[in-house]
Amino acid sequence: MNAPAELASALKSPLDGDTRFSVTGDGWPLTEQQQELIDLAEDLGRNRFAARAAGIDREAQFPFANYADMKERKLLGLCVPKEHGGRGADLFTYALVSATLGKYCGATALTFNMHACSSLWPGVLADALDMTVEQRAEHEAHRAGHYKRIVEQGAIYAQPFSEGTAAAAGKAPFGTMARKVDGGWLISGKKIFASLSGAANYYGLLCTEDKGADAHKSMRDSLYIAVPADAPGVSIVGDWDPLGMRGTVSRTLIMNDVFVPDSAQMMPRGIYYQAAARWPHMFTTLSPTYMGITIAAYEFAVKYLRGEIAGMGPPVKRRQFATKQITIAQMHILLEQTRAMFLRSFSEARVDPPKAMRLRAYATQFTIMENANEMCRLAIRTCGGQSMLRSLPLERLYRDSRCGSLMLPWTAELCLDRIGREALYEPGEADD
Ligand SMILES: Cc1cc2nc3c(=O)[nH]c(=O)nc-3n(C[C@H](O)[C@H](O)[C@H](O)COP(=O)(O)OP(=O)(O)OC[C@H]3O[C@@H](n4cnc5c(N)ncnc54)[C@H](O)[C@@H]3O)c2cc1C
Repeated sequence: MNAPAELASALKSPLDGDTRFSVTGDGWPLTEQQQELIDLAEDLGRNRFAARAAGIDREAQFPFANYADMKERKLLGLCVPKEHGGRGADLFTYALVSATLGKYCGATALTFNMHACSSLWPGVLADALDMTVEQRAEHEAHRAGHYKRIVEQGAIYAQPFSEGTAAAAGKAPFGTMARKVDGGWLISGKKIFASLSGAANYYGLLCTEDKGADAHKSMRDSLYIAVPADAPGVSIVGDWDPLGMRGTVSRTLIMNDVFVPDSAQMMPRGIYYQAAARWPHMFTTLSPTYMGITIAAYEFAVKYLRGEIAGMGPPVKRRQFATKQITIAQMHILLEQTRAMFLRSFSEARVDPPKAMRLRAYATQFTIMENANEMCRLAIRTCGGQSMLRSLPLERLYRDSRCGSLMLPWTAELCLDRIGREALYEPGEADD
């Protein structure tokens, strides 16, 4: 059953519109387009998504209505280049929109990551990579087809990479295999945690080119290919009843000799491997969702302690207690630290970043993912028992925030792993 909309929202508050609760805080220079897109995401989030979030979570249902709204407001083409009819958002602009959506519905923002990055990677990211003239021409023709579906038909793309092996961590070749056949590819394999399963029209998956039984399997032969959801041989199995991010509906995807035409390729052969090596920020795109959750938990706690949360009977203020003020101060510092890293790292994202930027990207991913959960933990502790009732959004934010540091390839553990190693070793260095 859906929670009544009014229970999930705050009462009218003098703090409505306070820049502390916006993704950029105050004073960050935005382009006209960035401001327009943030306003659009705010409008959708506040007026549509917030009220639906509890039901989506409780029923572990994909947010179809939110996607219908995003289609209507032309947000599905956020990262489709303008010359292909989209809004032409770059990585930073995507991050601002994603974080704004994340304040209102984590599952919508997280699945929107998979969809939007299916345009971003073959778009501005691929534009900065080296391709031969033939590869560039092939890529232009293929991506035009993908973009047309998104812009004209509202097609939704997923990004199922995980297989339950070391592949999703970027440490081994993908086990899903694609064999070249006349006019296309035959794909077989299994993807776990395939968010948008049953909802996406296309699954943009990573697989390895099958070069024959005797050939060595190599990550260099990774292929990025979109499989239509209705292609013969595609099936979805297993259930989905997780702790948090329940509306992502991330069930298991099976491909059994699925034929796709050559035009299904989202990047030419060899280009995904190049992108993974040269565009590290491509793996940070999940974290804006959790930046949004961090802000939402802070905003909830401030308004709760001021007695401005709806659905709790007559307003009771709790802000006068020194311990509450200290915890809000800790949360405020956490928010400022997290947002400062978010803004700096995403705004500097580029191909071939210098080492300092690459290390900062790992540190930012780690910080956002860990702090989102810490912010929710502090919010529940200081607001108290009533704040974790399911009629209020905080307990959902807490559960959703727990998943952030588990997302491959840049889990919190793997970020530590990379920072530690790359801070101590230069490329090529080893110990005897
Ligand atoms: C809500 C949700 C939605 C998701 N949606 C998608 C999706 O749409 N597409 C997708 O591809 N995946 C998705 N994932 C999957 C996610 O990225 C992981 O693959 C998933 O959590 C499964 O991880 P695992 O338990 O198999 O990890 P394991 O591979 O067992 O790793 C467990 C932990 O060990 C550490 N670890 C792993 N490998 C190494 C290594 N080589 N060296 C050192 N440490 C290592 C990591 O910290 C990792 O968290 C989603 C996950 C969640 C929770």
